[in-house]
Amino acid sequence: MEFKIGLLKGDGIGPEIVDSAVRVLETIGEKYGHTFDFTPYLIGGCAIDATGKPLPEETVTGCLNSDSVLLGAVGGPKWDTLSGDMRPEKALLGIRAAMELFTNLRPAKLYPALKGACPLREDLVEKGFDIMIVRELTGGIYFGERGYREGKFGKEAYDTECYSVTEIERIARVACDTAMKRNKKVISIDKANVLESSRLWRKVVHEVAAEYPEVTVSDMLVDNAAMQLVRNPGQFDVAVTSNMFGDILSDEASQLTGSIGMLPSASLGATKRGLYEPIHGSAPDIAGTGKANPIATILSAAMMLRYSFDLTAEADAIEKAVDEVLEAGLRTADLVGDSDVKPLSTDEMTDEIIKRI
Ligand code: NAD
Repeated sequence: MEFKIGLLKGDGIGPEIVDSAVRVLETIGEKYGHTFDFTPYLIGGCAIDATGKPLPEETVTGCLNSDSVLLGAVGGPKWDTLSGDMRPEKALLGIRAAMELFTNLRPAKLYPALKGACPLREDLVEKGFDIMIVRELTGGIYFGERGYREGKFGKEAYDTECYSVTEIERIARVACDTAMKRNKKVISIDKANVLESSRLWRKVVHEVAAEYPEVTVSDMLVDNAAMQLVRNPGQFDVAVTSNMFGDILSDEASQLTGSIGMLPSASLGATKRGLYEPIHGSAPDIAGTGKANPIATILSAAMMLRYSFDLTAEADAIEKAVDEVLEAGLRTADLVGDSDVKPLSTDEMTDEIIKRI
């Protein structure tokens, strides 16, 4: 098969880690008989330098004409003093909006080989864990009505949490579809004991789930979910939740894996086209040193194969190769910790993964 992939390398370590993922995808293409056509577009600080804008029109059009998009990271000290609308990070919101991406898939996986990096007690994470947080991305309190008004105690500010049936239905469908590709178990996280919008959320999630007889859906209050994540993370598989709860819980879950350089993400909309990127930033402190861990971006490419192109065996092959390098004790500098293991460079780690595909 043939796929057009837009590449948004961005700034800092962005180009290095995206190049690693491209090499991995080319290996997959050769082995499984696919053609990936890569077209780079400017985004973030490098786009400001070249065009004066963090998100040039050509980038938006190029992404909309691609089958899917792989992003490195944007930003850096050089552009930190620019005003709000001109900042590199503004381009991220812009491209997500232009591609109409309403779902954020954030896996948090603790590899047994990296158990030592998890801040939880070892007996709590004996078997590792593999959580997929499905976060609603374009609704809820971050986008609801807001403002200032005169209240009981004088001037006050307010923000509104609001969800429509349509918004809940579509995110619930993504959660159930995702569960069908995993262990067919969904936990829906809300605050239905207090919030009206959560009561609607709960009702609609169960109505959608009825269309998926193989998927088991249970509910959990968000305060309990925050607690359960550190008490027994292994109980979660797919967790679906609103924009704000997802924002908070996905950061909590990512910290449990102990290493920011390992975590991929996907943002999806109503079509198969998605935006795939590592959760970390542009790491300007290590850019150009060969110290960047490419695994989060390589796993983002694997997610692209799985969720945008339905290439399950190919995605499995990349994830298995990553498992194997970690099991073999190979580490980039961020994963070495206090041990005396000699760290691999970005390119060496990429070569080791490619060797195992
Ligand atoms: P960061 O994620 O870039 O870095 C935090 C720390 O983690 C640094 O010490 C860095 O060296 C390390 N790190 C990050 N990714 C790594 C990797 N793949 N391998 C090894 N080590 C890695 O966060 P920050 O320092 O707060 O932000 C730096 C810049 O990135 C800022 O301009 C920020 O706005 C931007 N940023 C961009 C995105 C994005 O593009 N999605 C996300 C977050 C931050």
